[in-house]
Amino acid sequence: MTTDTKLSTLGEFGLIDRIAAHVAGGEGVITGIGDDAAVTVLTPGMQLLTSTDMLLEDVHFRTTWHDPLALGRKSLGVSISDVAAMGAIPRWALLSLAIPAGFPLEFLDRFTEGFLAMAGEHGVTLIGGDTCSSKNGLVISVTIMAEQFPHLILRRSGARAGDEIWVSGTLGDAALVLSLLEDGAVCDEPSLLSRLLDPSPRTRVGHALAESGLVSAMIDVSDGLLADFGHIAQQSGVGGVLYLERLPISADFRRRASRFPSFPHHLILSGGEDYELAFTAAAENHEKIESIVKNSGIQATAVGIVTSFSGVEVVMEDGSRYIPRKPGFTHSI
Ligand code: ADP
Ligand code: MG
Repeated sequence: MTTDTKLSTLGEFGLIDRIAAHVAGGEGVITGIGDDAAVTVLTPGMQLLTSTDMLLEDVHFRTTWHDPLALGRKSLGVSISDVAAMGAIPRWALLSLAIPAGFPLEFLDRFTEGFLAMAGEHGVTLIGGDTCSSKNGLVISVTIMAEQFPHLILRRSGARAGDEIWVSGTLGDAALVLSLLEDGAVCDEPSLLSRLLDPSPRTRVGHALAESGLVSAMIDVSDGLLADFGHIAQQSGVGGVLYLERLPISADFRRRASRFPSFPHHLILSGGEDYELAFTAAAENHEKIESIVKNSGIQATAVGIVTSFSGVEVVMEDGSRYIPRKPGFTHSI
């Protein structure tokens, strides 16, 4: 196919063929792209986990900031993060696109390349989707399917009073980058930029934690730790105390924090798009959790304690309560 091919000449089926040409068969895929429905087979004894996400142009991404390759990666990455948060093994994905008239084909090619690269890195096969035209911006919808043995699936509802609250990686980086970009500031540290534009779903550690049997509840941090641990607390019928000074931040974050009039704790607690895992585990298993996480190649930090009384409090080093600016990121609907 020549590079000056236009989307309008290619048409819907041409675009689907163009995507399908880069997809090889995958594990458990009996029939992939091309028929009325995909046919897949679960590993015997495992259950199916399904999750879907939408990304709208100028709501969740801007084509001026998000290069198409990273956007393709992130579109699938955020869905993989959802099933990683349940300790599941990602397997199959559906990709639906609503594309504005005249949208550059080159962008879609790079997007697909990124999407399929992320898929390959996490053992996911693209098995279908839908393609149509949009009257208002690019719309991306991704459905992920994953599997796991029933007794290993980690839910939000299992936290118990006295458990430690853990978080993987560092918090606030993505929100920091977003605030820099929104202010028109230069952000040229690739490690920091990628935290917003190309997050890494924590599949490996999520799976290892599930297999350990030591974790009582887990969630991925997409709306900020405060809001997302709040979901664990609410669904487990417990509360929690988070220690502000223990929240893990990156060296990049610490360096860039000086541009704010006061230390930007709100970005760490409520910034959103961290795509780290927050989980709870009995305090007696602290060392075991540390070594499981370390073997998965990342770090995790114990940042608080689950309480029997409801509500989530943030406490500072001197024991006083920190009053958050806002609970977490939510799209107004
Ligand atoms: P139908 O009209 O039966 O819905 P489509 O023409 O929409 O079928 O799709 C034909 C095939 O191409 C199906 O297997 C579908 O899953 C797949 N498909 C459509 N759009 C995409 C896409 N964006 N990415 C991957 N597969 C797609
Ligand atoms: Mg269709």
